[in-house]
Amino acid sequence: MAVHWGYIGEKGPAHWCDDFPDANGNRQSPIDIVTKDAKVDSSLGPLNINYSSARSTCTEVINNGHTFQVNAQSSDTNLSGGPLSHNYRLAQFHCHWGSNDGQGSEHTVDGRPYDAELHLVHWNTDLFQSVGDALPKDKGLAVLTAFLKVGQENTGWSKLVALLNHIKCKDDKCCIEEGFDPSVLLPENKKDYWTYEGSLTTPPCHESVRFIIFREPVEISPHQIASLRDLLSHKQNEQPACGCQEHLSDNYRPTMPLNGRVVTASFQEQ
Ligand SMILES: [Zn+2]
Repeated sequence: MAVHWGYIGEKGPAHWCDDFPDANGNRQSPIDIVTKDAKVDSSLGPLNINYSSARSTCTEVINNGHTFQVNAQSSDTNLSGGPLSHNYRLAQFHCHWGSNDGQGSEHTVDGRPYDAELHLVHWNTDLFQSVGDALPKDKGLAVLTAFLKVGQENTGWSKLVALLNHIKCKDDKCCIEEGFDPSVLLPENKKDYWTYEGSLTTPPCHESVRFIIFREPVEISPHQIASLRDLLSHKQNEQPACGCQEHLSDNYRPTMPLNGRVVTASFQEQ
């Protein structure tokens, strides 16, 4: 039986370390990105994001009681370049968001949160045999991160948002006909990003993650973010578990101390 955790009360982030000791580590995520302290590294090469085969493998979206998640079954997707010295493959992507505008992202920029945050989770296929094998290990994972803010309707998000109606409750899942290519969810500017070494932002909080965070946020409409906030944290005809609000939202961990880590920027602040 998996140990239960949530975002409020006695099962909330302050207590995760009781059951998941890595949550007490010194390279935890998320963090506040202090833009003036980011170290510019102009030698960082461009990211190579190849999702051309994603459509055939991103074929299922589930409500896991913490977020919606699109699973990539097995694929030839590839993420490399930039700060990465290995090849990484997409395993899944999911999102964190707030109950109201003005909160919801995990990372913050100069103390300010965005309204939501998208995580595309990749595992290192050069060093490991499977995502499970890579999950707890240094250099095991690379998470591509895009901030979301409420604004214009986003056609890239439309298809995904429409599917959320079918996964209202925990453990609901839905097949994505024709699959889904997550490149439509990324910002146009992919060359400006921050990067640092951190952890999973949910239990078990393993310190295995290289974060790559795009500077340019992506807009989604009020209607689109409302569909995220309509998701439920519990199964049909059940009550929310301890630590969970009924509606899936505010599913973000507070920022964690930097502990001397350096955030690197691929660009010069103007
Ligand atoms: Zn996440």
